[in-house]
Amino acid sequence: MKGIAASNGIAIAKVFKFEQPVLTITRKEGKPEEEIAKLRSAIEVSIQEIETIKEKATGKLKDEELAIFDAHLAVANDPEFFSQVEDKINSENVNAEYAVEEVANMFIGIFESMDDEYMRARAADIKDVTFRIKAHICGERLADLSTISEEVVIVAEDLTPSDTAQLDKKYTTGFATEMGGRTSHSAIMARSLEIPAIVGVKELMTSVEHGQMMILDAINGEIVLDPTDAQIAEYTEKKNAFLEEKKQLMELKDLPSITADGVHVELAGNIGNPSNMEGVIKNGGDGVGLYRTEFLYMDASELPSEEDQFEAYKAVLATDPTKRVVIRTLDIGGDKKLPYLTIPPEMNPFLGYRAIRLCLDRKDIFRTQLRALIRASKFGRLGIMFPMIATLQEFRNAKAMFEEEKANLIKEGYEVGEKIELGMMVEIPAAAVLADQFAKEADFFSIGTNDLIQYSMAADRMSEAVSYLYQPYNPSILRLVKMTIDGAHKEGKWCGMCGEMAGDLKAIPLLLGLGLDEFSMSATSILAARKLVRSLKKSEMEELANKAIACSTMEEVLELVDAAVEKK
Ligand code: PEP
Ligand code: MG
Repeated sequence: MKGIAASNGIAIAKVFKFEQPVLTITRKEGKPEEEIAKLRSAIEVSIQEIETIKEKATGKLKDEELAIFDAHLAVANDPEFFSQVEDKINSENVNAEYAVEEVANMFIGIFESMDDEYMRARAADIKDVTFRIKAHICGERLADLSTISEEVVIVAEDLTPSDTAQLDKKYTTGFATEMGGRTSHSAIMARSLEIPAIVGVKELMTSVEHGQMMILDAINGEIVLDPTDAQIAEYTEKKNAFLEEKKQLMELKDLPSITADGVHVELAGNIGNPSNMEGVIKNGGDGVGLYRTEFLYMDASELPSEEDQFEAYKAVLATDPTKRVVIRTLDIGGDKKLPYLTIPPEMNPFLGYRAIRLCLDRKDIFRTQLRALIRASKFGRLGIMFPMIATLQEFRNAKAMFEEEKANLIKEGYEVGEKIELGMMVEIPAAAVLADQFAKEADFFSIGTNDLIQYSMAADRMSEAVSYLYQPYNPSILRLVKMTIDGAHKEGKWCGMCGEMAGDLKAIPLLLGLGLDEFSMSATSILAARKLVRSLKKSEMEELANKAIACSTMEEVLELVDAAVEKK
């Protein structure tokens, strides 16, 4: 089987098939005594399971993250809830799973319509716990990533970013999913966790069985099922060679990111949480070009407080106060959801209510984050950037709120950093086209090619069927990138890139030639990028880039890049 190599490496292990049962619940006649007995035993087993999961997570997760299990236990132990379920079974002679579903839906409806954020979050808890109970009544087992205790390759239809965040690196040697492209967030998480991954594998779930042996070649995007001994030997050798090359690159860790003709660029890391800083430092990153703060929100059971956020931002900034850290404000929506924040369903969530659009509407959420950022600014070199900016008005509104909160904090007696850079993501074509105007008001740009390409090509980044349109080397994309960089430079501002294209060895020569100042990528890509940058002359890459933007197809561009890099 073939798929898209999303995070390099090779894994050889047994398959752990991660799939939740589909429960089809219908109303049936039941004997109340029997149904109530089934209900009580399902509740008991569920409580035990939640307690075990909590125990396993203790020490691994923070207290506030562990609190989610207490909330689940509170639901599972709620006498009011279950006396209503029992009443329903007794009075209507219905089956237990149906009664649980009916009562749960009623409570979920009530909680979801409440104004209070905390109470709305309880709806997600009820859904979660009652799904577990219904599954037990129906005799189904729930899949649980935290129960894995041997080396496996996880196989799933899709892994949500929060599933991916829960993976235990000790046992997860790799994963493969049916859904997703190279820039889906589970792929991005896999790279930051350094777990080999292949995504977008057609018919994966119907072709693979739990416990089967698998070779996951996430360098070439290939899967071998039930490998022979000879194949296992061959891939073990490939895996060792891969690890050896990784080791050799380590020699470049402390060398400057400078081209062969002496031009400095910045090679920074993308992170999802403070603990990822370790990877950036280990791989010799010049700073952080993108901290995706949404993971902080996704890992919590309710909106993180100003204090919690402050601690996280401070930890990242203080790791090395000489290195610039660009923290992006909340980019929720699209494929990133918060269980406790109800976003009305939309036909096209990537084109909908997400990122800065949501933040400018939910000012309470946005102001809390800005305050935490500004308070943390004195601990290092902070750049703040806003995601999904489409119009100057949005940038101005966001900037105005930043200024207001900064003034408030100073009035309250807080010390703030001397210089906080305020920039924006350029990931909507409208912003790229108007970059020269934006550059008058923003301190810097960071090009988000994952979204910029999806919006320019009108190709959903989650769709495997249209993944051929993810074409970073298409001249149309190169022209948008050029417009953005030129726009920034015209106003004396710097321009970075934090989409996956920035760490792509075939794109780097072009980006260097187009004048990109900062390249921000998965930490594990930094050293290979440094090796390449040090071998290239900027002046030659400028010539290459000029030819590339005059091409008509991406294939022509790739031919030019191959010829130019091969000469080295
Ligand atoms: C991007 O769109 O390129 C980007 C870096 O942001 P995200 O992948 O989080 O949408
Ligand atoms: Mg984006």
